Amino acid sequence: MIHASEFEAAERARHPENCPALVLNADYTPLSYYPLSLWPWQAAIKAVFLEKVDIVENYEQRVHSPSVDMQIPSVIALKQYVKPSEYPAFTRFNLFLRDKFQCVYCGSEENLTFDHVIPRRLGGITSWENVATACLKCNLKKGGRTPEQAHMQMSMKPIRPTSWQLQDRGRSFPPNHLHETWMDWLYWDIELES
Ligand SMILES: [Zn+2]
Repeated sequence: MIHASEFEAAERARHPENCPALVLNADYTPLSYYPLSLWPWQAAIKAVFLEKVDIVENYEQRVHSPSVDMQIPSVIALKQYVKPSEYPAFTRFNLFLRDKFQCVYCGSEENLTFDHVIPRRLGGITSWENVATACLKCNLKKGGRTPEQAHMQMSMKPIRPTSWQLQDRGRSFPPNHLHETWMDWLYWDIELES
């Protein structure tokens, strides 16, 4: 019986494109969480040669070419500190994350979609403050009305989260794939508890 990790390692050896490097800032915290800062192996190796990054950890896999023979970096750190942005990108994933992947009206975690709190036909815009996670059922029930008109309570007021707030929320929702050498540089509560 082959272990999943052995299988993954074998797959990576065949496909170095499956060897992204986790990019840390100069203070050794991830450059970004959402999305997690990952560079393709080519970009990571290029940055090493340009002396823009230090290698922190490596994959076992190597790249061979006439000019290069080295292990593929799995964690790299920028030499120059980059000031992180205060606010995260307004993306579907980040919006779901802000709302903990739950309908703000009934708490359901199924068939999630996006609800314009003030409907577009009433001039509601697509923004952090006017879009919330809703299940399909509540979305249909609410229709083109405001929560007040539909007599539907929201469990939280939609706000534009800071990167810090979203990062804090994200500890409960780690990405599906994390290489073992990345663990020391990420602090997902789930990993710490298990
Ligand atoms: Zn709902």
